[in-house]
Amino acid sequence: MPLSAFMNVFAGNPLDRASDRRANAAWVAGKLADPGSLALVMWNGKPMVEKREGGGSQIAYVRADLASELAGGLERLLFMGLWNETAVFALDMEGRADPADGPLAGLGRFEDLRAIALDVPQADAGILATAKAMFEWRRRHRHCAACGGPSEPSDGGWKRICPSCKAEHFPRTDPVVIMLPTRGETCLLGRQAAWPKGTYSALAGFLEPGENIEEACAREIWEEAGLRTARVRYHSTQPWPYPSSLMIGLIAEVEDGEAAPDQTELEEVRWFTREEAKVLVTSGLPDARAPGAVAIAHQLIKAWAEE
Ligand SMILES: [Zn+2]
Repeated sequence: MPLSAFMNVFAGNPLDRASDRRANAAWVAGKLADPGSLALVMWNGKPMVEKREGGGSQIAYVRADLASELAGGLERLLFMGLWNETAVFALDMEGRADPADGPLAGLGRFEDLRAIALDVPQADAGILATAKAMFEWRRRHRHCAACGGPSEPSDGGWKRICPSCKAEHFPRTDPVVIMLPTRGETCLLGRQAAWPKGTYSALAGFLEPGENIEEACAREIWEEAGLRTARVRYHSTQPWPYPSSLMIGLIAEVEDGEAAPDQTELEEVRWFTREEAKVLVTSGLPDARAPGAVAIAHQLIKAWAEE
């Protein structure tokens, strides 16, 4: 399939990650000090954005040397990559005080990433998802998983090294299968008790060690809905930085049999016709709606409904 066949929100980060050069600490330091280099800022997982001409929002970049000054060292900095020849960094800020009321006053405002994901250009959403996933990893992996000692950032933040035992740690991506079970002209959606009333979505679960994607898909459909899977096909994937998943979107044909929710993850499963599925992703039915377009589940339902 062509690379751009289908692009979910949070995919499409256009930066050149320069992975061959970011291991060179002197090169990264040079880019960080370069007055032409830029940085995006995240505060408690929220990106700093600004209004975009013509509507919507966009990343509010600041000078990289300002980000470097606020970071006070490499721990909170990430080399994102190159945009043409311009180096782009990210700064991870934490704490209760809103930096937009402090050192970054007048430069932008901090917004929830998921809330603004469709409001920024696709490239910006991809860049922000990358930064968020990396900073979530950084926050959870400050200590070496082998010996417990504090680890240090390397390779522009893309690796952590333990000075005590020399172990190297790399950012993790956790694969999740998310699938739309179908049978003839109907598809099956489930709902969790905790979701807003009337919300139905695709089934999903983490891929486990020793499984391939189609096996994980079949297992989850069996566990959550009590149905056997006959065929699985791939639709698209989505980086999902909550905190570090890759959603693997699938459409699965299931065999005959009665669907029954497992009652632990799902309280209800419900069949929808193709016509109903079309309505679910637009205006919604009187008693049912699909997740918003940010979610790959929405895109799976839409794709199947339009087949
Ligand atoms: Zn160690």
